[in-house]
Parts: sequence; structure tokens; C-alpha cells
Amino acid sequence: MATSSPRVSRESALVHAGTERAAGSPLSPPLVPASVYVSEGEPWGYGRNGNPGWEALEQALGAIEGAEAVAFASGQAATMALMLCLAPGRRRIVLPEDGYYNPRALAARLRPHGAEPVPVDLLDPGAVDRELRAGPAVLWAETPTNPLLRVADLARLGELASGAGAPMVVDNTVATALLQRPLELGAIASLYSLTKALSGHSDVLLGAVVTRDRDLLCELREWRTTGGGIPGSLESWLALRGMRTLHLRIMRQSENALAIARYLASHPRVSAVHYPGVTAATLDVAAAQMTGGFGPLLSFELAGDSAAEADAVIAAAQLIVPATSFGGVESTWERRARWPAETAPASLIRLSAGIEPAADLIADVALALSA
Ligand code: PLP
Repeated sequence: MATSSPRVSRESALVHAGTERAAGSPLSPPLVPASVYVSEGEPWGYGRNGNPGWEALEQALGAIEGAEAVAFASGQAATMALMLCLAPGRRRIVLPEDGYYNPRALAARLRPHGAEPVPVDLLDPGAVDRELRAGPAVLWAETPTNPLLRVADLARLGELASGAGAPMVVDNTVATALLQRPLELGAIASLYSLTKALSGHSDVLLGAVVTRDRDLLCELREWRTTGGGIPGSLESWLALRGMRTLHLRIMRQSENALAIARYLASHPRVSAVHYPGVTAATLDVAAAQMTGGFGPLLSFELAGDSAAEADAVIAAAQLIVPATSFGGVESTWERRARWPAETAPASLIRLSAGIEPAADLIADVALALSA
């Protein structure tokens, strides 16, 4: 279906991308678990080269951003392919000191292959500029960050990157492309863990890179085919099915997260709330750069910063599930510092708002905090 027409909104494109319109064909793209194709006239030959399910998923991902997508086995597989494409010739990977920890760990592992992680505060333009100009670099932005939900000004970062001749990548997992569009703010590529809100049902691990750069697309596909980090056909099918409702889910989740963040901000046991929609220092940037909501993810700290108290709060909830990850239809929360590589404060609880009614969630948070 022609989902790239300017008359078709991103939301409609997402609902229809990859569907067949030929008479008699299944409306929903079929699940094709093929490792081999019969040779005559087919495009792939072997299952590591391609699958119709990936193509439908990639069409939908590309349709939201007016670009092309390459899907991978996980967000980290996508991160690795993108770092391998961009880093070796440039070496310095300038990335957020407070963002998701695994890209920093991965960049460190790529040192023998010509990469060097350079952690920086993305909200400090002077520091970013200095690091970008200290040698050939790639700017690896993430905003809002996981788990502190810090909001960097992407347009400003894009200017700094272009001034320094560095490509900018944005990990857009937390916001998704429906709320924030990095390619329009100077990024060469948006990176996604589809494991989160994009697929949205806590049942797949997948990732993707979305870009308009032809050379980068070719390189990404080569790394996927030769490196083997391919998406599974079932996972692709599930992710696409989930993505059809992304716009409905992300709106509801953003409303819920905002309501919970506002409730927490006035709670006597809470010493800090981190959410793009309530953090006064970056509210203007967030409101300009995120359209349609501030996303499903927030975090908060307890007065006294006690890990044991935070664990007790999480255990006392009746509805919100104690679990990692985020973006699913069900609300979940966890104390982030339970992960050894995480640098968040001891009591910081990261909460992913699901699609339940806000009143139920606030009642559950209140109950847990009264424990
Ligand atoms: N980017 C962010 C912001 C994440 O939070 C995660 C995982 O939590 C990833 C990337 C990696 O994604 P995956 O777990 O699908 O490999």
C-alpha cells in the first residue's frame, strides 16, 4: 500500500504499511518461517538474506519517519551494527554519561576494533562541542535518557555535530518516532529497541536502525547478513502486529505517565521526579521536540535514598508489575540500581506506564508508597 504519500499521516501509514491489496491475498502479512527459498526468481535464496516479514516490518518503521529501516535481532544488535558502520574511521563515540549503560559497555568492547567511548553530559553543549572537536567522532545521542529521562536539545546537538563534521545518531527508543523525529533534527540515523513501546506487548526482542542515507543502509544490511544478527520471522510478525496500535498506546501511556509524575511530585516520600513533562529545566525543549506526549517512562527517588525502602515500595504494589524493560501495555517498575552496571541513585525507581486507567495506577502507587 502507498503509505509514503504526503496525504497519509504517520499514524495511518503505521496501520497500513506492508499490507497487501491484491484480491484474495491475506490482509495481514503472513508469517513466513523460511530458512531457504526455492531458487527460481526469488530475491533472497537463504533466510539470513531476507524474509517477507522483515520487509513488512521495515516498511512500517520507515513509513513513520519517511525513511528506510533495517531490522535486527535486538536493540543491541542494531547498536552494534551501527557502531561498526560509523565508528572505526572516526574512533571517538561521544555518548551520554547517564543513558542506557549497554551502548557504553559495547563501545568499550569495540576498542580493539577502532572505537573509543567518550561519555559526556549531553545537556552541556560546550562539553559536547569540545569532545566532538577533539578528533574524528560520532555523536551517539539518547533522549529522553534511560533511566533519568534527561532531555537534550536535539536540534542544538545536530548543529554541533554538523559543525564538527560528526554524524549524529539518536537512540529514540524511549520516545518512539511518533513522539520525536531525530532525522528532522540533524540525525543521520534513529536507533530503536523494538522490544519496548514499538512492539509494546513484552513478548519480543528486536531492534532497528532508520535512516535516509543510502550508503549507511547498504552497510547496515551487509553487517546484518554477514554478522547474522537477523530478526526472527515470528518476532517480526509480532512486532508489526503490535506497531499497528502504537499511536493509541503511546498516547494513553503518555497521559498515564504524566498523571503519575504529577502525583509523585507532590508526595512527601518522593525527593525527585524525572519525567520530560514535569522537569522544569527542560520542559520547553521537551515540549518543542516531543509532539503528542512525553512517553511512557518516568523515574523517581525516595527521600533518604534507601534501596531497602524502594524495594519495599515495589513489593507492595498490587497492579504494577515488578519487572525490567518498558513500553509494554502493562505498567511495570523496578529499582534500577539492582543492575550492577547501572549508575542511578540507590532508591531510583523507573516506572513504565501501561494502558490501564490512570486512576487505577495512581491508587496503586499511593498504596505502595504507604507501605
Ligand atoms: N536502547 C535503550 C534506550 C534501551 O533501554 C535498551 C534496552 O533496554 C536498548 C537500547 C537495547 O535494546 P534490546 O534490549 O532490545 O537489545
